[in-house]
Amino acid sequence: MSSISLMTRRLVIVSATTLLLVATLAAQPLDHTTLAAIREEGLGGSQVMDHISWLSDVYGPRVTGTPAIEQARAWTMERLRAWGLSNVHEERFPFGYGWSLDRFHAHMVEPQVMPIIGYPKSWSSSTDGTVTAEVIRVDIRTAADFDEYRGALGGKIVLPQPEREVRMLEGDLVLRMTDAQLAEASATQVPPPPGRRRRGRAARDGPSFADRLQQFYVEEGVVAVLDRGGDSFMMGAGSGLPYQTQRTDGGTIFVGRGGPRDENAGNLVPAITLAVEHYNRMVRILEKDVPVRVELNVQTTFHAEAAATGQMNAFNILAEIPGTDLADQIVMIGAHFDTTHAGTGATDNATGVAAMMEVMRILQTIGARPRRTIRLALWGAEEQGLLGSREYVRTHFGDRATMQLLPAHDTLSGYFNIDNGSGRLRGIWLQENFAVAPVFERWITSLRDLGVTTLGPRSVSGTDHTSFDAVGLPGFQFIQDRLEYNARTHHSNMDVVDRVQRDDVVQMAVVAAIFAYNTAMRDELLPRTALPRVDR
Ligand SMILES: [Zn+2]
Repeated sequence: MSSISLMTRRLVIVSATTLLLVATLAAQPLDHTTLAAIREEGLGGSQVMDHISWLSDVYGPRVTGTPAIEQARAWTMERLRAWGLSNVHEERFPFGYGWSLDRFHAHMVEPQVMPIIGYPKSWSSSTDGTVTAEVIRVDIRTAADFDEYRGALGGKIVLPQPEREVRMLEGDLVLRMTDAQLAEASATQVPPPPGRRRRGRAARDGPSFADRLQQFYVEEGVVAVLDRGGDSFMMGAGSGLPYQTQRTDGGTIFVGRGGPRDENAGNLVPAITLAVEHYNRMVRILEKDVPVRVELNVQTTFHAEAAATGQMNAFNILAEIPGTDLADQIVMIGAHFDTTHAGTGATDNATGVAAMMEVMRILQTIGARPRRTIRLALWGAEEQGLLGSREYVRTHFGDRATMQLLPAHDTLSGYFNIDNGSGRLRGIWLQENFAVAPVFERWITSLRDLGVTTLGPRSVSGTDHTSFDAVGLPGFQFIQDRLEYNARTHHSNMDVVDRVQRDDVVQMAVVAAIFAYNTAMRDELLPRTALPRVDR
């Protein structure tokens, strides 16, 4: 080895060290004193389960436009004010009719007595008190089938679906992400060739077949429509996760919407989803030409816009910790406040709401002094299509339809959302914002002990961060262990406090608080992607 090459190597070593030193100096240090205080208060003094129990046990379910969600709002705003948060207020927006369930019971009374497990669909109309009616199986697939049943359905309860196979619980029920699943989440998927892509629904003229069928039931004088819900195996829609989870059945019922909330609210036949096993039993009896009769009572209330409170039926709740030298810039955190109706909205989404409320409580309790203003948003009417967050983004930041932007668009550093159940945060989806990756990579380095390890490049949808993403603002959803979300709790009657995993939700709040605080303390705003184009 010549002396020259030794010299060269030493030079190389020196310059590498210098580069590292420069890089370290250039990166703004994290405020580890405050981050440690967040951990101590968040892990040691957590109040998340108390928030969840109030929101779910006492005020749940929190369906938009109901007295219950107004009670939950009053409790939440009182609590936010009690913590000393600033600018606690609500922002209302139009929604249509709210809906609540007053009474429900159903029994098969012939050929044998069986109490039926079931739930009316949301926005279902009422029966005329307690009614007893013959049950018939109908098989109407196209409008051509109407003639076969015309005049035969009056005064009947109909079963429109065939028997569904109920499988043993052999599939995955609990999604606690493995190392392999986290590795999959951190990789970009190559999309299928164009020919195999799913097409959007073709534009059509006039009402859909489903709408015409509902109208046919009304015209024929059907008493009620019973169904047994969807299939046993589900993919998490929009979750970014390709894993199939088995739904639990066995008395767990996933219940959807059963009517409109506009001026036609209440005009359809009452609709009830039953436990699949009870539905199947009636189908099998009918196939033997043995008559089935059911006694049924559905009582529901439609809450007219402005009737309950003298104001519009939907709202977002806002609260702030004011910033210091960069106070006119904003970091937002949020979760949707409303729920579906069959459970108490514990994992969808009292867990997210409680974690984000807890972020504010922790920061306030430790006396954090963020440079930027940290703003909490608890969204209304997410379950009807992200209505609250869309309205907020449209009125504060910009219109996704025209891409006409408002001045505040320049001041939002980032928005962080939680809405995937009760499980701990394992990382964050980048929403294809690759410039933000090194920033988050540095933050999660000190969160590995809490299980936060993964940056997922892909864009995920289905909840309120997409309202921000749609106008080119950095809106993020955390990667979360779904636990029983897909299998048991999401939009089901078993979305209850007993399915909340306390230690996971405690972790959620600490991690979200650290992301919010780090975002508020950076010299720069978070990097953004290019603005979306306007579709014309
Ligand atoms: Zn949700």
